[in-house]
Amino acid sequence: MKCKLCENKRVSQDYCKEHFLKYFEEKVEKTIKEHEMLSKKDKVCVAASGGKDSITVLYLLWKLGYNVSALAIDEGIEGYRDHTLEFLSKFCKKHKIPLKIKSYEKEVGKRLDTTVPKGNHACHICGTFRRHLLNKYTQKYDKIATGHNLDDECQAVMMNLVKGQTKLFSRQGPKTGQIEGFTQKIKPLYLMKEKEIMTYSFLKGFNTPFNECPYANQSFRAKVRDFVNKLEYENPGTKENIINKYLDLRKPVKEKSINKCQVCQSPCSSTICKTCRIKQEINA
Ligand code: SF4
Ligand SMILES: [Zn+2]
Ligand SMILES: [Zn+2]
Repeated sequence: MKCKLCENKRVSQDYCKEHFLKYFEEKVEKTIKEHEMLSKKDKVCVAASGGKDSITVLYLLWKLGYNVSALAIDEGIEGYRDHTLEFLSKFCKKHKIPLKIKSYEKEVGKRLDTTVPKGNHACHICGTFRRHLLNKYTQKYDKIATGHNLDDECQAVMMNLVKGQTKLFSRQGPKTGQIEGFTQKIKPLYLMKEKEIMTYSFLKGFNTPFNECPYANQSFRAKVRDFVNKLEYENPGTKENIINKYLDLRKPVKEKSINKCQVCQSPCSSTICKTCRIKQEINA
């Protein structure tokens, strides 16, 4: 089939290679501008894993001329993270992007593999540690950019709905609020579908490693992902409808005063932060 804009063959739902790349890059740039995510004066750190989403964000922010660095977290998951980190290191070297790697083993005392028996709340623990380290090591930056895409965000909205945690809605969205002690997070791929990022990454020849975390399929998110994918397949446009409705209904983030964790001094909403509580449980 022909591209909607020229005589060339389609490589995506609507466009040929040239027009798809143009559409993709312009849409990401527009999302950054419309949601006032970044200015050229900002120092931005990409939370990078070496997968297609974070490599795409890293590449586009670099290409658009932002002051960009990368921070990777090594969770300690055998046979998984090593490959993506190796790829990321080469990518950053090629584009002269500064990269720091921090590991759970060094920072929290244990690899994820040795912390949780398989299937036992791995993602909850992993996510808490990751958020903690990302915030800790981006204190000198203005923003953290993540590779979250439309599919991820749709899943997050549905997960909070299913769990009745609609209070958390205000913490989601294309960028988080500015709360003292927390580096503001932005999501430049917020409106891009996972499929589109796969196409972009393929057409750009990134060749990102395609291996999935061994814990991923056991997570609640995986169940919600399969459910939303089925809905999208049967009713095309479902994902965009969910996100558009969420953006309409979302209330502005309320800034509240933050305490300091009595153990590690990180900002938190109670007396001991979640990371320190999990560490105490693990060690007990
Ligand atoms: S799937 Fe879960 S365990 Fe694996 S890296 Fe992601 S959050 Fe961590
Ligand atoms: Zn075309
Ligand atoms: Zn703490």
